[in-house]
Amino acid sequence: MKKGEWLDWVELNRMAQNESSLSGVLTQDRLTRIAERSVSVPAEEAGDWQLSYEIRFRRDENRIVLGEAQVNCEPVLRCQRCLEPVACAVESQVTLAFVSDDKAAEQVPRGYEPVVGSEQGVDLLAALEDEVLLALPMFPAHEPGSCEPPEFDQPAVKPETDKKSPFADLAKLIKNKDH
Ligand SMILES: [Zn+2]
Repeated sequence: MKKGEWLDWVELNRMAQNESSLSGVLTQDRLTRIAERSVSVPAEEAGDWQLSYEIRFRRDENRIVLGEAQVNCEPVLRCQRCLEPVACAVESQVTLAFVSDDKAAEQVPRGYEPVVGSEQGVDLLAALEDEVLLALPMFPAHEPGSCEPPEFDQPAVKPETDKKSPFADLAKLIKNKDH
């Protein structure tokens, strides 16, 4: 796996020790779970959205390895009102807590987002993708009032032009009354 999205524990601990930062851009072809949310948007309409991130590593007072992450992503999804594509901007700030198992995850202090790694290390791409998926709206849509539900191609009701207006006789009556 490409360096920068997968960190082994040695590297992760070293980065926390040195309080290093890591930043990068992930293209949509690698963000398969986010892309699944916009599966109905044709590629030419979805454009080239991507995810950019910056993570600052450190340790907290309990020696937990933390990653203070800033995640920006603007996937193009299907508007649930007008059914046209809509770019859903996600800006997420989260403190990731890297732990080795579920038991350790349960002990992570409130306010941190536990990321459970494996023996090999932690999958940063998956963790960042999770953040975006959590922040995306359940029902993506344009700003309220800026779009309308589509008009369906139903057979239009024929305007009754050839039918006599119900008020025609009334108009005649009134006219006759005047004279
Ligand atoms: Zn819309």
